[in-house]
Amino acid sequence: MAYDFDLYVIGAGSGGVRAARFAAGFGAKVAVAESRYLGGTCVNVGCVPKKLLVYGAHFAEDFEQASGFGWTLDEAQFDWATLIANKDREINRLNGIYRTLLINSGVTLHEGHAKIVDPHTVEINGERHSAKNILIATGGWPQIPEIPGHEHAISSNQAFFLKELPKRVLVVGGGYIAVEFAGIFHGLGAQTTLLYRGDLFLRGFDGSVRKHLQEELTKRGLDLQFNADIERIDKQADGSLKVTLKDGRQLEADCVFYATGRRPMLDNLGLENTGVTLDKKGFVEVDEQYQTAEPSILALGDVIGRVQLTPVALAEGMAVARRLFKPEQYRPVDYKMIPTAVFSLPNIGTVGLSEEEARDAGHKVVVYESRFRPMKLTLTECQERTLMKLVVDGKTDKVLGCHMVGPDAGEIVQGLAIALKAGATKRHFDETIGVHPTAAEEFVTMRTPVAG
Ligand code: FAD
Ligand code: NDP
Repeated sequence: MAYDFDLYVIGAGSGGVRAARFAAGFGAKVAVAESRYLGGTCVNVGCVPKKLLVYGAHFAEDFEQASGFGWTLDEAQFDWATLIANKDREINRLNGIYRTLLINSGVTLHEGHAKIVDPHTVEINGERHSAKNILIATGGWPQIPEIPGHEHAISSNQAFFLKELPKRVLVVGGGYIAVEFAGIFHGLGAQTTLLYRGDLFLRGFDGSVRKHLQEELTKRGLDLQFNADIERIDKQADGSLKVTLKDGRQLEADCVFYATGRRPMLDNLGLENTGVTLDKKGFVEVDEQYQTAEPSILALGDVIGRVQLTPVALAEGMAVARRLFKPEQYRPVDYKMIPTAVFSLPNIGTVGLSEEEARDAGHKVVVYESRFRPMKLTLTECQERTLMKLVVDGKTDKVLGCHMVGPDAGEIVQGLAIALKAGATKRHFDETIGVHPTAAEEFVTMRTPVAG
């Protein structure tokens, strides 16, 4: 049977665009549907605008520290509306680049909400299109627990478009988004409290990293409240929010920001018209080649709930395009040693196993740790300290994990990730000459284990 398209991609986000462009480049006839914004979450309400706001927040301490180097500044003023308008302009520019990229690679772009009506047919804007394969790349959506008053809370989707910087913000959650946004709001001058339901935020990260970040954020004046969760939110006559915690305490805020995870975006997608199945958490179930239970339908990225990171969605998009249209070049995505950064202030950068994961996996663990005051701060009042940590297998000498909390941690860990991927040993680290004077050189000069 002849189909309108070889591949119909639903979602022009990180994974969908990558799969569509490469499939078209391999000679396939490809369409992509997008209902909201070209570039998806990462470009519009994720990585990119978030990083721009993080840069914005960082200036507060840059100004403070500048005086140690002889600079005198008038009192610094911050204008939220300018930052948001400039951010919006940059995102518009990126939307245009995505449009050009898709069109120049020969992909047909359909703008609207796509619904699957049968395993080979997609309906969009009242028209039906047949396809040999359909790729679900619809991403995720913020999930706010339905406590009384949850409608008064916002998620990251709204935070990027607030008209004003709220004076008092309560951030709920202890994952990437909560920690990053707490830093943004605090850095830009809002009185910020982070509420996390567990003992210590960033569950799953290395224990020393979590503790170190807790200490650093506390030093900066961020109010961290652990074992704390909201029972209800009430809007008061003056527009402010009264927040009642499960332990009975009450807090006041102008903005309650929830960052309590993301659900797969499957709204009105028509999965009931297919044999596609979902896993226990509601994400689309796929095999190792991104094939769903319906033979003609594939899925990737946040909607499959494996690793919700843009570079992972990109790698999955590439793998799908190759698998379908260039099988001789197909290589499965390797989910081991995925480096990641949390753009908190200070940043976290991490790759490989945490000390806890290494011990649980049965390794004979040797740990190297270094804590120091970054050189740039020695002429300032700032007491921030950097943490660097290596988790090493005592038997094979292989470096199992590298972890850092400090300026540019994400930038530094990207390079280390290549070394770990290549199987570097501690001896390789020791025999590598440092770049002096940098913070990164500490990773090749740690000689005495702190635990073994
Ligand atoms: P998405 O990028 O979400 O794209 C899905 C697209 O599908 C969307 O454009 C959506 O509008 C569209 N769509 C959905 N349903 C339909 C439909 N029925 N019809 C048509 N179109 C539809 N990752 C990092 O690696 N680094 C970071 O620093 C980082 N920061 C983040 C910060 C925030 C606040 C958030 C929320 C996420 C962040 N992420 C980050 C995660 C990253 O954004 C996601 O992992 C990535 O965007 C997933 O790509 P995707 O292609 O699976 O989905
Ligand atoms: P995460 O899954 O990272 O964190 C969710 C947090 O919310 C956890 O601390 C969790 O607690 C808590 N939580 C979950 N449900 C509830 C509830 N009902 N009540 C109170 N607290 C709750 O999700 P995020 O929303 O922060 O981010 C989504 C994903 O986006 C991330 O996992 C990451 O993959 C990606 N991302 C990546 C970034 C980066 O690369 N820098 C930046 C931002 C997002 P507990 O730990 O107890 O379960």
